[in-house]
Amino acid sequence: MIEPKYKRIILKVSGEALAGDTGFGIQPPVINNICKEIKEVKELGIEIAIVVGGGNIWRGQVGSEMGMERAQADYMGMLATVMNALALQDCLENVGVPTRVQTSIEMRQIAEPYIRRKAERHLEKGRVVIFAGGTGNPYFSTDTTAALRAAEIGADVILMAKNNVDGVYSADPKLDSSAVKYEELTHLDIINKGLQVMDTTASSLSMDNDIPLVVFNLNEPGNIKRVVLGETIGTTVRG
Ligand code: UDP
Repeated sequence: MIEPKYKRIILKVSGEALAGDTGFGIQPPVINNICKEIKEVKELGIEIAIVVGGGNIWRGQVGSEMGMERAQADYMGMLATVMNALALQDCLENVGVPTRVQTSIEMRQIAEPYIRRKAERHLEKGRVVIFAGGTGNPYFSTDTTAALRAAEIGADVILMAKNNVDGVYSADPKLDSSAVKYEELTHLDIINKGLQVMDTTASSLSMDNDIPLVVFNLNEPGNIKRVVLGETIGTTVRG
């Protein structure tokens, strides 16, 4: 049996990844497939923490463009991530994976508050921990949350699961036929070239804390497992 490359991972699941082709809301077949893949990876003995986005329901930027106060709109976005986290928890538990949701903003009736040491304990006990509510602060993103939590819990890597994109390209491959895919990059390359991988706050936090990132296509069945087993797919971004 191949030894997994990583022991503890942060899987960043964007809200979009739960919406499938519709781009909005949560599609049961889509989320069910993701949960089955997470279960397979968990069975390899890997500790998995998930940071979930909310863009399939609400984005602060959209509210702000509509004239809302940015911070208010961002709090709505953070709440959207909690809805996705509860959906992921439900579907993971349906396939027999024990989970805990921890929120950065307290809502004790539905989830635990984020406590780093407790999160680590859950991981050691074989539970999948789902981090919801982003960082708990407006003007940030769930990509930054992934970098922050990865640093806090000492994750070996951030797996950035993308919707129908198999890595980082020099330009949008759907719009520019000359776009080339990068196999390897550094976080600084992403910042300097302005590549659309994660926002600069998330990139600089990952760079400062030496957290590698693998960007890969979540829609290709078996890909999460391939990455954790060390197969070179997608784009690897190093510190
Ligand atoms: N958000 C925030 N602070 C955070 C994380 C998220 O204000 O620390 C808000 C922000 O408005 C964002 C929304 O939550 O637009 C959804 O998160 P994100 O856009 O990162 O989700 P994704 O693109 O991964 O689905």
